[in-house]
Amino acid sequence: MNKSLEKDLTADVVVVGAGAVGSMMAWQLAQKGVKVLLIDAGPRIERANAIQHFFASAEKGPNSPYPSQPYAPHPMHPQDHLVQAGPAVFGGSYLRGVGGTTWHWTGFSARFRPNDFRTKSLFGVGVDWPVGYADLQELYLFVEKQWGTAGDSAFDQGGPRGGAPFPLPKVPMTYADTLIRDALAPLGYTVAPFAHARNSEVFDGRPACCGSSSCAPICPIGAKYDASVHVAKAEAAGVRVVSEALVEHIEVGPDQLVTGLRVRGSDGQRAVATGRAYVIAAHAIETPSLLLRSAQANAPQGVANRSDAVGRY
Ligand code: SF4
Repeated sequence: MNKSLEKDLTADVVVVGAGAVGSMMAWQLAQKGVKVLLIDAGPRIERANAIQHFFASAEKGPNSPYPSQPYAPHPMHPQDHLVQAGPAVFGGSYLRGVGGTTWHWTGFSARFRPNDFRTKSLFGVGVDWPVGYADLQELYLFVEKQWGTAGDSAFDQGGPRGGAPFPLPKVPMTYADTLIRDALAPLGYTVAPFAHARNSEVFDGRPACCGSSSCAPICPIGAKYDASVHVAKAEAAGVRVVSEALVEHIEVGPDQLVTGLRVRGSDGQRAVATGRAYVIAAHAIETPSLLLRSAQANAPQGVANRSDAVGRY
């Protein structure tokens, strides 16, 4: 049954997107006493229900445990939510629901390498980032601690750790991994497990991985990190989560500041969400899509797009 949209959608901060970024930010703000509204276009996801959908699916694809909803269809769904043109078509997938695409990510948690931020100046490819590895190092550490990232601290994975070990010990190598390791050793190669946000031991109230290996599209026991962890922490800290609420349009005033978000509930009703500040954390494709389709007299190129950089790079 479709949900009626709540009448009162006001808060100090309105966060759009209850995925990896939005849930973490909502939780952090709430801990500082900020009143936060966390909105997501998709439904709440119950792990046990999702597993049943996965069992029943013949396809066993990344979104199989999470049925597409008419009010927030899957991006690659025949309803054509995501219409692509041009030579570089996105062939991946993402998920609209509370917890976001972390529900079906693999847990692969490698950091970028320092050179990844300077590919233009080093290799003549792409563009250099406006930030470098050193700017992100502390943030990498913070997130790894939150996720409970497991890794081999003795193995150089290319991203300097400043002496900080991984929060959890490495996930043991499989038998096949050890065969490959032993075969490559005479050639001078070393092999180690990559960093992974799945519990190698009990952590943060979640069990250790038991190796059932359906991490993508769903970990049946919650050993792999997904953002439902920080959605729950955010709610415990006072954040109000509103699911099945699609932000259709961002309203901008003459001073270029956002005045509200036009929201459509799964029952088709509409309301306006307002706050003193807004966070758009709706996904790498959905965020620029929302900003650009909100073009209006006070933001003719789209919202937050005076640079014309939204949706590029
Ligand atoms: S318990 Fe299974 S699904 Fe969960 S992280 Fe471990 S291998 Fe992946």
